[in-house]
Amino acid sequence: MSNTDEKSVDPIFAKIFEGKKAVIFGVANERSLAWAIARQLHAGGARLAFNYLGEALERRVRPLAESVGAELVEPCNAGSDEELDTFFSKVKEKWGHIDYLIHSVAYANREDLEGRFVETSREGFRVAMDISAYSLVAMARRAEPLMEGREGSIVTLSYYGAEKVVPNYNVMGVAKAALEACTRYLAWDLGAKKIRVNAISAGPVKTLAASGVRNFRDMLAKAGEKTPLRENINADDVGAMGAFLCGPGGRHITGATLYVDSGAHIMGA
Ligand code: NAD
Repeated sequence: MSNTDEKSVDPIFAKIFEGKKAVIFGVANERSLAWAIARQLHAGGARLAFNYLGEALERRVRPLAESVGAELVEPCNAGSDEELDTFFSKVKEKWGHIDYLIHSVAYANREDLEGRFVETSREGFRVAMDISAYSLVAMARRAEPLMEGREGSIVTLSYYGAEKVVPNYNVMGVAKAALEACTRYLAWDLGAKKIRVNAISAGPVKTLAASGVRNFRDMLAKAGEKTPLRENINADDVGAMGAFLCGPGGRHITGATLYVDSGAHIMGA
């Protein structure tokens, strides 16, 4: 089923997000995992705000955002404190508060997503950690005052390469390990205010970011058959989990990394 197919939106979420406001970071195009989550939240009645990275992506993001009645579509580079401050102050001005934050952002230099991990440069390591892990902390800090008293939910996206070696995933695996640790520390800090923080560890899906990993296509072709369910996941599976974590089913789930991977993570050989 295509992730632009309206029928793929899970009806169990109908209306449960009415009156809720969600900030979505990380839509690049209609294949983005962030877009799949945004569509589920929209189907449940949530009001949405989106970032985009640069003018080229704005042309892709704006029409998608408009198709779900987005109330705010603003540029924001997650690597810039100034841009994050501006983005979140616009959200505050517009809405005063938010209920959900979807962090679906990652970046590493292409040369660090192939070959030997040992060759990773200091700068390549720094960039991957900054954009793919620290940005969650930077966003959570700005979201916290907007979520007070709202039982907020923050959701980020990880991958199994955080735990085990996946050739070519390299520095991104290290950044995802840090991201999952950040999820736990943030869950402790923000839990005092009933704000939950969770990560979805997703199986491979063909997206713009995934195409940066060398041999991703081969990996995708073989991945599904090795899983307990013998099939790959799709973006809508991630969308449904993202919405679940924001909804009442996720009410006492925090600090967790939940797998949407057809069971791939339980396999040994
Ligand atoms: P995608 O390319 O659609 O999304 C990645 C997003 O990151 C893009 O929207 C891009 O604009 C954004 N981004 C990169 N650098 C940024 C910056 N400096 N500031 C702001 N935004 C920035 O690809 P995707 O696969 O949907 O990726 C979303 C998340 O899911 C990533 O964290 C990725 O690691 C994770 N993930 C993807 C897969 C997969 O197979 N596709 C599997 C597991 C986890």
